[in-house]
Amino acid sequence: MNKQRVLVIASGNQGKIREFQGLLSRFSLVVQPQPDGMEVEETGITFAENARIKALAVAACTGAWALADDSGLSIDALEGAPGVHSARYAPTDPERIGKVLDALDGEPQRRAHFSAALCIAAPDGTVLVEVEGRCNGLITQTPRGDEGFGYDPIFEVEGTGRTFAEMTLAEKKSHGHRGRAFRLLEPQLESLLQST
Ligand code: IMP
Repeated sequence: MNKQRVLVIASGNQGKIREFQGLLSRFSLVVQPQPDGMEVEETGITFAENARIKALAVAACTGAWALADDSGLSIDALEGAPGVHSARYAPTDPERIGKVLDALDGEPQRRAHFSAALCIAAPDGTVLVEVEGRCNGLITQTPRGDEGFGYDPIFEVEGTGRTFAEMTLAEKKSHGHRGRAFRLLEPQLESLLQST
């Protein structure tokens, strides 16, 4: 019988680990969290670079394949901010939302996009898969909706007239940056597993 391959999720966030365990359930993989207390500094200037840094560090440390993600919101009128600093833009979600709305006060150009980069790396330093999903939209004038997290209430998804916070989880998965990235990852992971 074939031994199942281990895939370590390069994150200490329980919610993220559960989400990936669900998304990866159809694959013949043992999905595990990264070792307790492990922290990898995100020193990259792009989402892809940060995902790669985390996947390579966790793969090298665990001796198993590792999957990492990095995501955030980039606003055109703010030259791409908050970008890779999305999580640290201000101390709490309401403060981060307030800071974005203040920065765009009186600004008619409100185009923005969410990005999600995913990377799978091997312990020998090989990058096995890299994908990036994107969702275009507009920053609203005021927050709308109660679902989701983070910047969801101020991000109106292109072509829908609704913010992420006004969508169900299933709708967000179908339009959202993470869902798109995962749909790009799936066929590549499938061929990888077939060829190894
Ligand atoms: P990380 O990918 O865990 O580093 O998180 C990046 C940050 O980007 C999060 O803390 C949120 O502030 C923001 N972010 C990423 N994805 C979303 C999303 O789907 N909705 C709202 N905010 C998000």
